[in-house]
Amino acid sequence: MNTAPVTVKTRSASLSPGVTTRTRHRHRSDAESLAEQDSALNATEEPPGHHGTGRFRFFPDVPDSCWNDWKWHFRNRITSIDRLSRYIPMTPEERERLELVTGRYPLAITPYYLSLIDPYNADDPVRRQAVPSYEEMTMGRIGMEDPLGEREDSVVPGLVHRYPDRVLLVLTDICPMLCRHCTRKREWRHGAWTRTGTEIEAMLAYLWSNTGVRDVIISGGDPLSLSTASLESIISRIRDIPHIEIIRIGTRYPVVLPQRIDAGLCDMLSRHGPIWLNTHFNHPNEITPESAAACDRLLRAGVPVNNQSVLLRSINDSIETMTKLVHGLLKIKVRPYYLFQCDEVQGTEHLRTPVETGIKIIEGMRGHTSGLAVPTFVVDLVQGGGKVPLQPNYVLSMADDELLLKNYEGKVFRYRNPGSTENEENMPTPLSVSGVVESLTAEADLLLKTRGKTDENRVGIRS
Ligand code: SF4
Repeated sequence: MNTAPVTVKTRSASLSPGVTTRTRHRHRSDAESLAEQDSALNATEEPPGHHGTGRFRFFPDVPDSCWNDWKWHFRNRITSIDRLSRYIPMTPEERERLELVTGRYPLAITPYYLSLIDPYNADDPVRRQAVPSYEEMTMGRIGMEDPLGEREDSVVPGLVHRYPDRVLLVLTDICPMLCRHCTRKREWRHGAWTRTGTEIEAMLAYLWSNTGVRDVIISGGDPLSLSTASLESIISRIRDIPHIEIIRIGTRYPVVLPQRIDAGLCDMLSRHGPIWLNTHFNHPNEITPESAAACDRLLRAGVPVNNQSVLLRSINDSIETMTKLVHGLLKIKVRPYYLFQCDEVQGTEHLRTPVETGIKIIEGMRGHTSGLAVPTFVVDLVQGGGKVPLQPNYVLSMADDELLLKNYEGKVFRYRNPGSTENEENMPTPLSVSGVVESLTAEADLLLKTRGKTDENRVGIRS
């Protein structure tokens, strides 16, 4: 086992990797308290992930004091194909190809996340998110480096101001794991960095002078890669700004390194609320006793946890998998918030699905399970166009006095608007207005028979 500290090229000295013996001892007692909390949770609530972790398959000799210490995981991330091949069988040809890929798009997997992978299944949904694929190169010219135009919307380095009342802060590009579908893959080749003190001062000055900003999102690279003390020094200064109402943190730590959500971090977050946390579970196999306990600690610290999934080919692109995921999230009290269409990022084409797939998944969930479980399916437009929510078309026509609506079973109903003098008895009985819409032709036929004009601005999306 490689226990050397991770070499991190920093622009400031605020990162936490590289632990002294003294701090390791301190975290040993944190780890013990983590283990107690985890076993308390497990006694009352069985998380839905059926795989559990393969910790003892891959890391049989690692003691609990290390396994429960997030800094141990960070230092021991798997960052080379050579080391990865000790855990996941590869042919010499595969190794050679993956070496090529990591020359352009590096590799980093935490021991914890690796332990969720079935090493003998090339299609394992956790593996496909973490292990490089040769398709990142063969399809590497498709898409854009910065499809969301974040560089154009950066008003000061690391601060993106696109919407009127909220801004995005990027404090570091360091993530515990490099997700193969990452929108900010372009940043990986610049090495690891964190914002300098001068850059942070410029961000804070911008926030002070823009009184319309009420919501600050701190996101990836993963902000929880900073030490708790460094993060607190920034969050507390944002809290001093009277017009900033809420802070949101975007992090994948609860999923890929849940040990990071320790008592010190939770105490700090609870002191500076309201803080919301958005995390990023993509598959039910990621819901484990450890990740469930991490979310539980956040919730007990008064930090609401929402989930933003990315729709990924052969990983979670089915109604069955997505339903299992959202049900699992609700069991650990995490709200499914967004389901993102995978962005047009170079090196991710092999993981992208047609937009239609997302709409069909939402259609397959809506009405068949609680509305609380159904995320909003969203496409983030290129060139900074922003997020567009997409959903199945339930409005077949809309006139002044009535609408023609399709329910989750495909049955069509008339719905009277207030003020309409028509009632059901006076309405001409249209043919087939009530029934199941089974095809586009059937829907068009119904539209022709509907009284009044349809809304010309409405674009119907068939799913
Ligand atoms: S955690 Fe987020 S920012 Fe970091 S690599 Fe994964 S998707 Fe990208």
